[in-house]
Amino acid sequence: MDNKKTISFIKSIFGTNEFIPLHVPSFNGNEKKYLIDCIDSTFVSSVGPYVTQFEKEIAKYSGSNYGVAVVNGTAALHTALNILGIQKDDEVLTQGLTFVATANAIAYCHAHPVFIDVDMDTMGLSPTALSLFLDANAEIRDEKCYNKITKRRISACIPMHTFGFPCRIIEICKICKQWGIPVIEDAAEALGSSLNDQKMGTFGDIGVFSFNGNKVITAGGGGALVTNNKDLALKAKHLTTTGKTPHPFEFHHDEVAYNYRMPNINAALICAQLEQLDHILLNKRTLANQYRAFFENSSYNFRWETAKTKVNFWLNCLEFNSKEERDQFLKDTNENNIMTRPIWQLMFRLPMFKSCQTDEQTNALYLEERIVNLPSSYRKNG
Ligand SMILES: *Cc1c(COP(=O)(O)O)cnc(C)c1O
Repeated sequence: MDNKKTISFIKSIFGTNEFIPLHVPSFNGNEKKYLIDCIDSTFVSSVGPYVTQFEKEIAKYSGSNYGVAVVNGTAALHTALNILGIQKDDEVLTQGLTFVATANAIAYCHAHPVFIDVDMDTMGLSPTALSLFLDANAEIRDEKCYNKITKRRISACIPMHTFGFPCRIIEICKICKQWGIPVIEDAAEALGSSLNDQKMGTFGDIGVFSFNGNKVITAGGGGALVTNNKDLALKAKHLTTTGKTPHPFEFHHDEVAYNYRMPNINAALICAQLEQLDHILLNKRTLANQYRAFFENSSYNFRWETAKTKVNFWLNCLEFNSKEERDQFLKDTNENNIMTRPIWQLMFRLPMFKSCQTDEQTNALYLEERIVNLPSSYRKNG
């Protein structure tokens, strides 16, 4: 297919010749109202009613018992690892094809990321590759999982739902359970996506969301943890609020903890955004359907939902047949006022993770050269 045709199609569906960004937030509801209310109240910082309201609503929306609001998605991942007891020199299994924040959070704990391959269709952690790695490398002692070769404990697994496409999380949780490994679902990109009508973020022990400006909905900056485990929820709240023990006036803190609590002003924004989430998802689905119809008769693969999943279509994905084809498309679109982006470089290529353990990464290497994100913003007339 001719890139010129694609460029004019994208310009037509966004109704402009001006610059078309990859993804911008949309504020069409109570955002200004809640922000003004928050400022008028003077409670703009870490204590305030919008934070509590948001925690209730994110739990309800995802179908979890508890929600804990934090400053960003990376902090949510870091907190999740901490409350599950990940220690210095432990190993944490994750996918090699992910956004760097997943691996960074593991490094914050002075633990070692181990990069496992992804599935070709979901682009998320592959249960097959995970099983292969564990069968070859792991053993169970005292109900804990150890890497036979490095002697380190394998203390968590973080699958990630790439661009909102659900990975095979049920199989992954089953395998991890057999090996005594807790699962943290990095659902930063998958708010609103589901599998068998169950929301992503609720399959593992803890689910993590991001509300950064480029995600489906935004708090300006923000994140959340969801869990059904009361003990973990309490620990998360404690660790993200300086470890302060409740008292009417005394300052007592019982551990070295973090100031990771989401400010009320950000919570005001995300409360307004959450009210529009279902509408935003429908709008994004309409766009995805238009892309799908357009690329149907092309030689490119416009990524669509796999069986029993519902995708939030955060960022639409087009798969090319070769790196050359992909590079030409990136060049042509970006030179023509259309922002497109390649998928991330694999984690083992980055200087700080280049000595980490990794499997063959066969599928990840294939996808790394071929996947491109298309403009995916909410459209006012969509
Ligand atoms: C955005 C993102 C994060 C981090 O979220 P921030 O709020 O930007 O810290 C983590 N993991 C993945 C996969 C992401 O896409």
